[in-house]
Amino acid sequence: MPLGTIVRQPAKTGRHEGVRKTGEIQKKSQNNKPIAGYRSGKARGGMEAPVAIDRVSSPAARKSAKGSNRYNPIAPERVAEILKRLNELYPDVTCALIHKNAWELLVATILSAQSTDVNVNKVTPIIFKKYPTVQDFAALSPEELEPDIRSTGFFRNKSKSVVGAAKMLVQDFGGEVPTDIDQLLTLPGVARKTANVVLGSWFKMAEGVVVDTHVTRISRRLELTKEEDPKKIEQDLMQIIPRERWILFSHQIIWHGRKLCFARKPQCAECLLENICHAADKTWSTVDIHKNARPL
Ligand code: SF4
Repeated sequence: MPLGTIVRQPAKTGRHEGVRKTGEIQKKSQNNKPIAGYRSGKARGGMEAPVAIDRVSSPAARKSAKGSNRYNPIAPERVAEILKRLNELYPDVTCALIHKNAWELLVATILSAQSTDVNVNKVTPIIFKKYPTVQDFAALSPEELEPDIRSTGFFRNKSKSVVGAAKMLVQDFGGEVPTDIDQLLTLPGVARKTANVVLGSWFKMAEGVVVDTHVTRISRRLELTKEEDPKKIEQDLMQIIPRERWILFSHQIIWHGRKLCFARKPQCAECLLENICHAADKTWSTVDIHKNARPL
């Protein structure tokens, strides 16, 4: 087998320790164009390969890296490449919460906090059969709803939020979920994440980027943000991601978090983003690791 065509396998340690810093054959984008933040090197076998430049070893190289070629994780070309690869991985993904209207999606999103979509999807068909309309929920006391949503966790607070939101919708909004984000944010239990889910997934309105636990973790791993606070993370993402991609980007990252980029032991060897990801907690890497590119 000619040099440079051997498929790499992860080391037993979980970290590919023998990786060369330059001249390796690595996964490439489909069009094989260089990616911003990288310079190309000649790989063994004559192929061009991207080479990480941000952690160069010699003083001279470090000095030269301070110039215009310095690695920029939010360079438009790099962000575009991430979006392109996400499209390849998850072309048609949508919200995984089962719902038939905006109210049901609002309830499902409130219930999904600190829970899983699978768990919520077991609960919501039962409660929407029992209480088909927002008026039915508004007529409840929080204590009456608690047993039905207990399995989603934090059920007392969630019950207060759902019943409180139903009462406000009936009293102030004619029983309809408003499409104005500021009005949505006045509902009990509704913060920006929930408002963005409802506006994006039901009304197809891009008012912001959904920032949940997956988006927080993966945006930090991919160095799209250094922030810890969801509001600041959302602001960072809104600055670098084109508005027409806000809704799909959130869905794609959430699916990526479920399928590959797990909180623990992300499946980096199978990830299409691997050679443009420098996350500190990767389980496999053909590029340099950036110690600050880590989840919270
Ligand atoms: S390479 Fe690993 S850490 Fe980076 S995005 Fe892919 S799965 Fe996540």
